[in-house]
Amino acid sequence: MSRRSLIAGNWKMHTTAGEAKLLANQVAAACAEFSDRDVLLAPPFTALRSAADALAGSAVILAGQNVCWEPQGAFTGEISPPMLRDAGAAAAIVGHSERRQIFMESDEMINRRMIGGLKHDLMMIFCIGETLEQREGGETFSILEQQIRQGLSEVPALEMGRVVIAYEPVWAIGTGKTATTSQAQEAHAFIRGLIEGLYEKEVAAHLRILYGGSVKSTNVDELMTQPDIDGALVGGAALDAASFGRIIQYQ
Ligand code: PEP
Repeated sequence: MSRRSLIAGNWKMHTTAGEAKLLANQVAAACAEFSDRDVLLAPPFTALRSAADALAGSAVILAGQNVCWEPQGAFTGEISPPMLRDAGAAAAIVGHSERRQIFMESDEMINRRMIGGLKHDLMMIFCIGETLEQREGGETFSILEQQIRQGLSEVPALEMGRVVIAYEPVWAIGTGKTATTSQAQEAHAFIRGLIEGLYEKEVAAHLRILYGGSVKSTNVDELMTQPDIDGALVGGAALDAASFGRIIQYQ
């Protein structure tokens, strides 16, 4: 089964609207000749509109870094699915480890975000991953299973076509430590097997699973050789146009 790869850049809390416009332009230029893969950018909410304008006419997908489950209401500090769409986004990241660890978002809350985003036809990048302590305690697979079972609870098979899972071991995010290719492949194969059990073979076969955690221009080629790695979610290196351009152009 060949799946279309996806290279996603998470800009986190970086870039003003002006900086986002410049970087988005550079990314659009870097991927213009690569029509066999998808590219996604997740600027901060305040820079979505200027990035959207810069990306007009390109195939780059724009995403919010989070999304609320309600379309509007008394949810101070949140952004709704229709608001994301209005700002030019067609996707959202949920469950990033920084949301889980710094902002105490629970599996249950992440599940509500998933369901809310899917209801409004957003592509959902659902992040999961174990901490170093959990890995060293031999809990990696049980943690991934719990995050998947709870995060995808009540998500029907019909909507799984718009779900992308990002496996991001917390100990590899922003640390310069990358999971070895075989550690990443092992986790991805486990995730695909789990999805096959929860849904069906077809859903698992079509599911894109991204690896995230210190992906760079120097390690992306090897990661992308693995059968269950369908792309990358990139943090730090996505802020540098030359590095991210090279990651997009993985061989
Ligand atoms: C991320 O934030 O999702 C991430 C993987 O960051 P970095 O590439 O900097 O490790």
